[in-house]
Amino acid sequence: MKILIIEDEVKLAEYLRKGLGSAGLASDIANDGLTGLHMALEFDYAAIILDSMLPGLDGLGVLAALRQRKQTPVLMLTALGKVEDRVKGLQSGADDYLVKPFAFSELTARIQVLLRRSSPTNSDTQSNLLCLEGLEMDLGRRRVSRNGQRIDLSSKEFQLLSLFLRRKGEVLSRAEIAEQVWDMNFDSNTNVVEVAIKRLRGKIDTPFSTPLLHTVRGMGYVLEVRS
Ligand code: CA
Repeated sequence: MKILIIEDEVKLAEYLRKGLGSAGLASDIANDGLTGLHMALEFDYAAIILDSMLPGLDGLGVLAALRQRKQTPVLMLTALGKVEDRVKGLQSGADDYLVKPFAFSELTARIQVLLRRSSPTNSDTQSNLLCLEGLEMDLGRRRVSRNGQRIDLSSKEFQLLSLFLRRKGEVLSRAEIAEQVWDMNFDSNTNVVEVAIKRLRGKIDTPFSTPLLHTVRGMGYVLEVRS
């Protein structure tokens, strides 16, 4: 199962591929519309991330040509504030859209929704459920609980916890957390990560006997069971 990224900004495309990889999704990159269209027609991708502004054949052109032959789920990336692009994209057969700049966690969450929608047969509930000990996160229903007790999280807290659960046992630096949960041009001088971690702890750890989210001094944070 592979994702196709059609994006002419080389750095952004690489960043997307790296990020999808850390969420367990393999991907290919096409840096222009025509190459992307050929790849999309020739291979069977699970989903396509399609930028709207592309040299040669633009995103809507790719989408129109693709839709004559295939129904691969498409997530379109559009420039900020261009509502008309968004509407056109959806009318032309895009399954979802995301406005640039976007938080990476939102992109992966939406891709996962597309993948689930397109293949109901092989999407068992397991793949939407992240857990550690009694802590459970249902990505599809956007629900979190610990020991069966429902926990209400803000959207950012939810993204933050899903990052930790996907990469449980791995120490994540503040910079990486900031990049994955907030946006790519994050100012590392602010304490937004610490504040969010503190709030998240207050909800998932404080009311319970064993803490799961730990600080690793000088390195970052890790979600794991410690005896
Ligand atoms: Ca572009």
